Amino acid sequence: MATSRPPTGQGISQPPHSAGKRFKGLRSVLDPSQIPSPASNFWSDQRRWQDRPYNTTTDVEIEIPLAGTDCIYEDQGNSTPRFLRMSTYAMPCTHDLAETCNIPLGFVLQPFADQPPEEQPVPLATFNDQPPPRCDHCGGYINPSVAWSASGQSWVCNLCETSNPVPSEYFSPLDFNGRRMDHNSRPELNFGTVDFAAPSKYNAPQPLPRLLPSFVPTPDSTSRRKSLSSPPDLRDPTPLRTLFVIDVSSTSVHRGLLPTFCESIRVALYGGSPNEVNTGLFNAELNPAMKVGFMTFNESLQFYELSPDQTQPGMLVISDVEEVFVPTRERIFVDPQECREIIETLLDAIPRMFAHVIAPSSALCAALQGSLASLSRTGGQVVACTASHPNFGPGILTPRSEGDLWGTPQEHKLWEPQEVVWRDLAEECAESGVGVNLWVFPDRWADLGSIGSICNTTGGDLHFHPRFQIDRDIHVLQSEIARTLRRTTAYNCSVRTRCSNGLHVSSYISLIHQPTADTLTVGTISADLAIGAKLEHVGNGINDDQRKNVHIQAAVLYTTVEGERRVRVCNIGVRPSTMAGNVFRWGDQDTGVCLMAKEAALTMSRKMLPEIREDLTQRFVDLLVGYRKNCAASTAPSQARFESPTLLRILLILPESYKLLPVFGGAILKTQALKGGPVSSDSRATSRHRILSSGVSSLMSYLYPRTVAVHDLRSSIAFPDPRTGRLSLPAPMPNSYLWMEPDGAYLMDNGFVTILWLGSSVSPQILLDLFGTDDLAALGPRISRLPVLQTQLSIQVRNLIAHEETLRGGRVAPFLVARQNMDGAELEFGNMLVEDENNDMMSYVDFLCHLHRQISDKVCFIHVGQDLRYSDRVYPQLTAAQQTWW
Ligand SMILES: [Zn+2]
Repeated sequence: MATSRPPTGQGISQPPHSAGKRFKGLRSVLDPSQIPSPASNFWSDQRRWQDRPYNTTTDVEIEIPLAGTDCIYEDQGNSTPRFLRMSTYAMPCTHDLAETCNIPLGFVLQPFADQPPEEQPVPLATFNDQPPPRCDHCGGYINPSVAWSASGQSWVCNLCETSNPVPSEYFSPLDFNGRRMDHNSRPELNFGTVDFAAPSKYNAPQPLPRLLPSFVPTPDSTSRRKSLSSPPDLRDPTPLRTLFVIDVSSTSVHRGLLPTFCESIRVALYGGSPNEVNTGLFNAELNPAMKVGFMTFNESLQFYELSPDQTQPGMLVISDVEEVFVPTRERIFVDPQECREIIETLLDAIPRMFAHVIAPSSALCAALQGSLASLSRTGGQVVACTASHPNFGPGILTPRSEGDLWGTPQEHKLWEPQEVVWRDLAEECAESGVGVNLWVFPDRWADLGSIGSICNTTGGDLHFHPRFQIDRDIHVLQSEIARTLRRTTAYNCSVRTRCSNGLHVSSYISLIHQPTADTLTVGTISADLAIGAKLEHVGNGINDDQRKNVHIQAAVLYTTVEGERRVRVCNIGVRPSTMAGNVFRWGDQDTGVCLMAKEAALTMSRKMLPEIREDLTQRFVDLLVGYRKNCAASTAPSQARFESPTLLRILLILPESYKLLPVFGGAILKTQALKGGPVSSDSRATSRHRILSSGVSSLMSYLYPRTVAVHDLRSSIAFPDPRTGRLSLPAPMPNSYLWMEPDGAYLMDNGFVTILWLGSSVSPQILLDLFGTDDLAALGPRISRLPVLQTQLSIQVRNLIAHEETLRGGRVAPFLVARQNMDGAELEFGNMLVEDENNDMMSYVDFLCHLHRQISDKVCFIHVGQDLRYSDRVYPQLTAAQQTWW
């Protein structure tokens, strides 16, 4: 296996286009095969969990699987890490202890995450149109950790310890162990993640009127709340409405994108793509309850009336885009199966109808205002494709002089909407329960800082395709839209988290609309959306009684695609800790790294990038210093340190749970959002959106892509394991040219692009097996997927690509071939080799040295007045360090 053997010493030297930074000082001669490796860590964890499930109650005494490990979770009373993942499973009892440790304290919530078919789906608890039992004091929902007393007449809340009477209809006597007799038949008492059927009083309120609404209310929208003092009208939940919004400006027509949009929407709705065979995405049925509608825009807006009885759709035009309204609510949203014929007619006709449009006018903002107007009474989701920047009507955007803003205190303005109308529209969408998903195909620039804000605020996706080639990439667009339509989607959502006494959520690490201090109001929460949250102690902190767990309960009130109102509750209990050692021992590096990445991305709104990078580096140092000061002495050397004979007795002591922080931390600094060097603000905004909205598993894959040596695959790899039926995965390899060979072939996937790198002296047999030709020069950059060949290697590699696609719900990532020293894609590939010196940043080894020097400075020197001197305890080791390393 690639990871089990050290580099041969050859590797490949970095191509000249890589630009990084060197460590300032004497460079170490650290052996890269001796430092902690993410690849071998992934591999040992994958092997640990591939044959057995992780049980959330009985397996609490072992570390949870890594976020990227393909495994099965069993929910036995705690939410699984798939839905709620903590940064530590030993909660520091006090603020001071948390400060001492310096690990990020919080969690990442992905309440509607996809589950593999082998896992038990989230159960539904029903209460005959009554609210689920809740705590009178804190509002917490009944859950597996509450205590029963008074012969079953009352229950004690595990969050605030208040005793609550049991409603008569929920009463059950207790058995000898104090457990309810009906315990086994109650999902809410057995599972950490559960859905409660919500009664009608939990229906979403109509939003408050705004001073400057985005659209002109029509008489039938009088059900919007009239004022603050009037009681809120509640909306009856309805099946999810999806509005397709299509750019029909001349820019869209001339670039050939209009027929591409229409065809992609048709394929996403009804299938028919050659790619179906590969992804299996289209095996998932479109939810039959979903309703769809269509709208087009250029310098005016066009709505379409549809009905199964019509042969031709009716068009309703709004020509004044300054005063948008909905001309009719009848027959805009229809059943896509019932109206398949007329919808296909419409999608076929739209490119012809607008083929002769001359003006390149794009009233995107007005189109989104019109979308909101049509969904304002119910909520829903928008799927909008745009081929140019908004240049007509409200919210016109002009090119920003990026060069004048970079490196100035005004830099943060690049992440804020240019025009306030974009911010207001985003907030109004979120309050109205509307999520906006945007596909942007810029002609020159897009200003995602402005238009992307609507995705960030409402919980929608932002898909940016700056180099879209129709022939090569149309199947990517089709799969992205199909994924949006087929994944679990909740709408009209609000999120609230309750914690044990002494702990609270201090803030959500998110750009989602937050009208009040403790509640997020989200248009849509899809299976792919995750929300980071920071925890903070209140008062004297939490109870340090080791017999009691610390509890966190995140509740999402939402409407399903079918139009049912529900509350999804995720409960987790973790042990309290009075010792720093335990806080680190039970720390989860993946969640900690993701929280740090999300927080850094969030602070782009108020800090300059160099300052953010400096703060992040300092954060890594503080965490490692926190460990070294408080725990290192008591840690077994074999567990948490590594030595190199060339470094004499220098020790860099790393916590086992955060031993990969230097490489993952470096990877955060190398993301498009945060890296140094020239990157367009649109690319940075896209990367920022990915960091803020991704769950832990997909964000870790984005930070440290999975790379596999294709030429080194054993014959049994990448086929289903006969025992488990699941794909037998190959060992990943370190992301560095140092581990690569010029006669090799390597496959890398970061969730957003898949690159096959081919060495200049790759074996002709490998090319023949994969492409049906042995001529490297014949493979052009226009290859968009591997040909379907019945060779062993072709099947293995296609299985691996399909496996990655399955993990992201069938969404296809663009596939690029990067021939060594031939293709432009090699630059992108090289930038994803995050252990190397690139992206205006040091290599992993250099960054490790850089962190070590800063840690040493902090640990070895103690300030005595103005003088600095060595601390006695570490002096002997660190003098050696001073002499030989620095
Ligand atoms: Zn309570």
